Amino acid sequence: MTRGELTDVVSRLGGQAFRAGQIWRWQYKDFATGWDAMSNLPAELRRKLAETLADWEHTATVVEKSGERGGTVKLLLKLADGGMIETVIIPSKERHTVCVSSQVGCAFRCAFCASGTDGLTRSLEAGEIVAQVILAAREIGGRPENVVFMGIGEPFANYDAALKAARLMNDPEGLGIGARKITFSTCGIAPGIKKFAAEPEQFELSVSLHAPEQGLREKLMPVAAGKWEIDELMGTCREYTAETNRIITFEYTLVDGVNSAPSHCDALVRILRGLKCRVNLIPLNPTAHFNGRAPSREICEAFADRLTRAGINTTLRRSKGGGVNASCGQLRATKNKLKIES
Ligand code: SF4
Repeated sequence: MTRGELTDVVSRLGGQAFRAGQIWRWQYKDFATGWDAMSNLPAELRRKLAETLADWEHTATVVEKSGERGGTVKLLLKLADGGMIETVIIPSKERHTVCVSSQVGCAFRCAFCASGTDGLTRSLEAGEIVAQVILAAREIGGRPENVVFMGIGEPFANYDAALKAARLMNDPEGLGIGARKITFSTCGIAPGIKKFAAEPEQFELSVSLHAPEQGLREKLMPVAAGKWEIDELMGTCREYTAETNRIITFEYTLVDGVNSAPSHCDALVRILRGLKCRVNLIPLNPTAHFNGRAPSREICEAFADRLTRAGINTTLRRSKGGGVNASCGQLRATKNKLKIES
């Protein structure tokens, strides 16, 4: 709920408007996930809230945690209707990044992503997205600095809820996560990028590209077949940067023998030339769902050097989390598979 929506509910239940502010603080400053924790609310109001918003305490519950202390941690969450999603906490020296899911499953079936394997079940509500950040904050022991919509699902296929969630996270009286610290990642939904360009907040945009030309891209990302082909996508990205004056991060997963040759790099330079952008190169995380592997470190570094020498701002990411099933959708997919087999 927005603060206005919450204030309306509290008023309907006979509470004074300032009670909404108290609930807001319990939720976003103390990361409370139950009404009983809100000790400064009158017991009667808590009882009415628990009755009226019966599902709130069950919005998302951690059912499994994997990872190591100080490293990437993946949470498997159960939703009120039994749906499963994942949230990943990625620590670095000075900050924590939380990777949130925006849907239960995904319709887009990108080749090296476990999330698309079983298709889309449903989109998440804004509260189910924000709840992931609150649960992650409880794990971390404080508010995370960055949020990325790179978990299960395509945020632009759940545009309104994802945007509402980002605005709630951005609220200075709530989590207060800076707009520039919240990144929407899309597999290339061109109409979503167009709409996003018109939003007043400075949220960041990341586009999963993974291939520099149409034929290869539609093999790796079926979303590119038929609609939102690479020319249209890149045209939309150029319009986005012109309209917003913001840069786009292009994600490019390096797969051995598939998209990591010097010729792919040169083709990538051609489509990115003159575009305000940076490229994130990610050596493929091993997944049972895709028959491929990461190129050698030398090939990855040569690809990164070639891009950099061509004037493209490039980062070569160290692959994090392969050991904890931390690639998008892997933990959920493993869990679903176990359920089917047991
Ligand atoms: S990469 Fe994103 S859009 Fe593609 S299947 Fe996975 S969750 Fe869906």
